[in-house]
Amino acid sequence: MIKFNSKLPNVGQTIFTTITAKANALGALNLGQGFPDFDGDSFLKDRICHYIEEGFNQYAPMTGVPELRNSIASYFNKKYKHVINADTEITITSGATEALTASILAFVSKGDEVIVFDPCYDSYVPAIELAGGSAKRLNLVGDGFSLPFSKIKETISDKTRMIIINSPHNPTGTRLKKSDWIELSKMVDDKNIILLSDEVYEGICFDEEYHFNPRSLSSLEERLISVYSFGKSCHMTGWKVGYLIAKPSLTLEVRKLHQYITFSTFTAAQMALADFLSEKMETFLSLGDFYKEKRDFLVNGLKESRFKVINPSSTYFCLLDYSNISKLSDVDFCLKLIEEHGIATIPISGFYENAPEDQKIVRVCFAKDQETLARALDILNAI
Ligand code: PMP
Repeated sequence: MIKFNSKLPNVGQTIFTTITAKANALGALNLGQGFPDFDGDSFLKDRICHYIEEGFNQYAPMTGVPELRNSIASYFNKKYKHVINADTEITITSGATEALTASILAFVSKGDEVIVFDPCYDSYVPAIELAGGSAKRLNLVGDGFSLPFSKIKETISDKTRMIIINSPHNPTGTRLKKSDWIELSKMVDDKNIILLSDEVYEGICFDEEYHFNPRSLSSLEERLISVYSFGKSCHMTGWKVGYLIAKPSLTLEVRKLHQYITFSTFTAAQMALADFLSEKMETFLSLGDFYKEKRDFLVNGLKESRFKVINPSSTYFCLLDYSNISKLSDVDFCLKLIEEHGIATIPISGFYENAPEDQKIVRVCFAKDQETLARALDILNAI
């Protein structure tokens, strides 16, 4: 038997894997998995085939193909009026996950602390631990899952190297307002703290204007690493193309890691995405409208149900409070939904270190075709 010390002794099978396995075994309708059950635009599929045929099959430049970096800079200019240098401030990565992990490994060292907020996306904490740091997990508070500002203030110390923010937020569908970012900016103002901003759902916002992009605050720009994903904006999660934006000094440091983790990202996919973003930017700018229809269909369709729907203002996730229906824990409730009702959802306690005990909430993903959503409504309304 080979002996080794696990670098991640606490990582095992997650509740997400258990739910997916059970849903598959019992053929349940799957609103658990957090990705679309439909394909991206056929334009993208045509272009990726075109570039493969044309021989774009060798390594891309380490930082990403210039065409894609330039398209991203134009998109940020059009949408947010930001001026971003495509050569020194944008780096293409193999999904947002690589950008997040490379950023954490680049700046967090042994003994450092990183503040994250529960419910928390699951890739952050393992990366912090691999880097030798420790995660200070604070729960988001209240019905609106707001940042716990007084707790943040108490937790920040000389050891705090990074704060990771996810807005728009998976799994709650909430997002931070400009005033939240200003408050946060005051807290880190004189400190040596990097803000790692996971904005993979930036294009999926409803009701009001766009997502508030923290790069709009000059007080934050210097310390921000902003992370995005084409998986989310193009309904092509399997392509695993993401990117990060940061000022040149931070970018240089993250690129050192990226250079030796993956070196570069699938060339033909980058070329296809560059064409899509530059030729069909409207699709990106109207992504919120596309998902708003689905959100409204789900939320309106559940008005008469026994679930309390926590209406999301962003992302393609919606939380359902089942406290009127059952006293079971969220994990047991999800298992019961699969076994007895044939529908898979996700218990949000899976995103916490310490979930509030009385919280009875599950997450559904509405990045699903109309027929799936209609079937889901029939099932959920009958519970
Ligand atoms: N951050 C969040 C909040 C996510 O929900 C996801 C995808 N589920 C990612 C990062 C990872 O994105 P990618 O697939 O581009 O690696």
